[in-house]
Amino acid sequence: MKVLISVDMEGISGIVSRQETLPSGQYYNEARRWMTWDTNAAVEGALAGGATEIVVTDPHHQLNILWHELHPQAQLVRRDLIAFCPLYILEGLDETFDLVLFVGQHTRYGHPRGIISHTVTRLFADVRINGALVDEVKLSTAMAGYMGVPVGLVTGDDAICQETQAWWPQVETAMVKYAIDTYAAICLPKEEAHALIRQAAQRAVEKVATLQLFTFPRPVTLEIDFLSPPAAARMTLLPGVERTGDLTVRYVSDNFDYIWRIFWAMVYMASKTRDPLPW
Ligand SMILES: [Zn+2]
Repeated sequence: MKVLISVDMEGISGIVSRQETLPSGQYYNEARRWMTWDTNAAVEGALAGGATEIVVTDPHHQLNILWHELHPQAQLVRRDLIAFCPLYILEGLDETFDLVLFVGQHTRYGHPRGIISHTVTRLFADVRINGALVDEVKLSTAMAGYMGVPVGLVTGDDAICQETQAWWPQVETAMVKYAIDTYAAICLPKEEAHALIRQAAQRAVEKVATLQLFTFPRPVTLEIDFLSPPAAARMTLLPGVERTGDLTVRYVSDNFDYIWRIFWAMVYMASKTRDPLPW
């Protein structure tokens, strides 16, 4: 059984600060080790549950997981910031995989207390699909579903675990910290957090045959609120993207692959907007 483990950084055990998640941060190098430990716990659990081939992908910013300390049975997708990897959070996934596991995840932009909440880029505010707010986990679960692969696990703070369970009750979770504020949490002891991840990953792999594919009802309507008007304005260069408000654009398609591509094209274009943020 072939499993992709996608690992973000904000939801890793112990992490509460951008000083830990940004390469320029004072505690980043230490946090990279914590990220590798959480990943290894998920790999161990997946192997115990029956996984035979494991690929880990590392989409947060660039080159975080310590390759030389990763579990010996896991392959690692490593990518530099300038690399073109159009599956982003799911880079490495294809139709030959049986399961996706998400480790170290975080809540959407605007969540009242989720640790380091944001939606992909600090240039986006709310992102909605069919009128409801979505986060990176939900968008990626829908893309995995489009590719025919179910999602079985999310780990991170209590907020992302509870939010995911609310729309996807079959998902296994490991709550490794309890969010107090965007930059404060009660963190479980290291060994306890790793044990929770290991057990939840094992449960997810063991129940793979019962997991369903998640998809949004069609047509799918994507709406994004930007943080600056010039960013919203530029998005109308993309055919089919309409500006529906001062800060808001909309794109509609029956094909989730198109939604995914337009979303990431907008992430890229927003990053090229020279207008400084309004603060
Ligand atoms: Zn991240």
